[in-house]
Amino acid sequence: MNEEVKEKPVVEIPDFVTVRQLAELMVVSPIDVIKELMSAGVMANINQQIDYETAAIVAQEMGFEPREETPAIAEETAEGGPTLLWDRLYAGEDPENLKPRPPVVTVLGHVDHGKTSLLDAIRHTDVQASEAGGITQHIGAHQVEHNGNSITFLDTPGHEAFTAMRARGAHTTDIAVLVVAADDGVKPQTVEAINHARAARVPIIVALNKIDKPTAQPDVVKQQLAGMGLEPDDWGGTTLCVPVSAKQKIGLDDLLEAILLVASSTEIKANPDRSAMGSVLEGHLERTLGATATILVQNGTLRVGDVVVASLSYGRVRRMLDESGESIEEAPPSTPVMILGLSGVPNAGEMFRVVPDERTARAIIAKREDELATKAAAPVRAFTLDDFSSRILAGQAKELNLIVKTDVQGSIEPIVNSLEKLVVGDLKVNVVHAAAGNISETDVNLAIVSHAIIVGFHVSPDPAARRKAENEGVDIRTYDIIYKLIDEVDMALKGMLEPTYVDVVIGQAEVREVFQIPRIGAIAGCYVRDGEARRNARARVLRNEEQLFDGHVSSLKRFKKDTREVRAGFECGVGLEGCHDFAEGDTIQFYVKEREKTA
Ligand code: GDP
Repeated sequence: MNEEVKEKPVVEIPDFVTVRQLAELMVVSPIDVIKELMSAGVMANINQQIDYETAAIVAQEMGFEPREETPAIAEETAEGGPTLLWDRLYAGEDPENLKPRPPVVTVLGHVDHGKTSLLDAIRHTDVQASEAGGITQHIGAHQVEHNGNSITFLDTPGHEAFTAMRARGAHTTDIAVLVVAADDGVKPQTVEAINHARAARVPIIVALNKIDKPTAQPDVVKQQLAGMGLEPDDWGGTTLCVPVSAKQKIGLDDLLEAILLVASSTEIKANPDRSAMGSVLEGHLERTLGATATILVQNGTLRVGDVVVASLSYGRVRRMLDESGESIEEAPPSTPVMILGLSGVPNAGEMFRVVPDERTARAIIAKREDELATKAAAPVRAFTLDDFSSRILAGQAKELNLIVKTDVQGSIEPIVNSLEKLVVGDLKVNVVHAAAGNISETDVNLAIVSHAIIVGFHVSPDPAARRKAENEGVDIRTYDIIYKLIDEVDMALKGMLEPTYVDVVIGQAEVREVFQIPRIGAIAGCYVRDGEARRNARARVLRNEEQLFDGHVSSLKRFKKDTREVRAGFECGVGLEGCHDFAEGDTIQFYVKEREKTA
């Protein structure tokens, strides 16, 4: 790093930055930044926001070379935030670059049905792993080889951990192995596990465990599974059901074979030739090693020396260890590794990605801290019945997802039946999960990931669930009378009928100049002729009365600064999402979609 210092160090600065963030970006004391601002005639406190121009002058005075933020940072703050959804991981990949990767498997099932035993037994089918024996490192996941193919197993079994990870934004699992003890059959947590896997759209393979027991009744269990919509393959269905014994190590090869079979029929691919991204499985502070994180590389290849950002921590990867405690130089997709060199301990479920350099990493974190502060000030209420209607209006939802909890098993069926009969136009209810018992934190996590509302009948949320629901804005509604529950959901659906929309033009601007900005594209320098230009509107580009483009406004600036609206008589810079073809004299028409007023 010493060589870098000879030249003026570059500092990448966002459009707006607080004094504290600017100091952090340059790794200097905020007091020095405040002094520098004072000598430039700007009185600012540590939390004050300053614009790019001012920040750039200060940075220059302090011996840095200021630059506007890179697209890598802008991307971080793009709509949707830094959540790690499947789409986000592989979005934009050219299918030609995608190569098969090992499937990532989670083991789910009822308590005591043998999840942990099965994971242990599978770990020991791998000769290499058992040879490494005593020194195996706990890295949250392990890989086994079977007939020349690898499979990655996540070590924390159970749907609670599975959905908690998803609620934090991670989507790590390709295939769920549902362990059902052949002597005990389908139990409440088996049903929960099935619903959680289905909500995540993860294919299920059943491991019928404990077949060594004389009391095992595999056919009875298969009957129960068929009743849950998991028709066993040997009964003409599509669910692979593999009889196993974790204790006697029976059927393990068949199970691995089944996993590879399901994997081969699903597109389990990644691009190994790009910078790495993936999920944090666990974070630890180790006395001798400092902050460590066990991570799952999901796309790209991670290498020693790469700069990684994970939530609010970052660092250059100093060392990588595999599950045998061996140092490795690179980790291709689906590899779990422990990394050393982070500035702090990230949390499980957070996303990590490789960025070009440490300055970019610091800028991303500064921006995230800022966003967190804003979010903390404005609580989210994303999953209330009321907000649901706006999602429907925006065309984002057609189904009202519900999680139903009741005091007794007997109430589930009549309630779910009545709810599923509610159909209003093309809107309907989708019961993601229904079970007897109090409303738990796991239910709230499931509600978060499936955008569901929780309805309780004669039950209440436990304290942890209540706290989480409040923080995350999950709507929990409890009832003592069945018809009130049904009635309220019905009313909600009726209020959600899709209205007709009309386009209302709010302003027109004339293109006077076109700028090509590297990495961003074409920006039209405009004069607003009438009405107003609005950042959150849609826009059409018209040339000689002909419409060339219709889409969303991606940026609206006045004097380099982002702005929400620009009124008639003023100039502005306009970027449109996916539009690169502006010409002088074009008209940009700004419009919004409004609900048609009906009686
Ligand atoms: P988990 O709670 O699902 O992780 O279950 P465990 O792996 O802790 O197993 C629960 C109990 O079942 C333990 O006493 C295991 O020894 C026992 N067990 C697990 N698999 C088998 C099996 O295949 N056969 C028999 N007989 N017992 C098993």
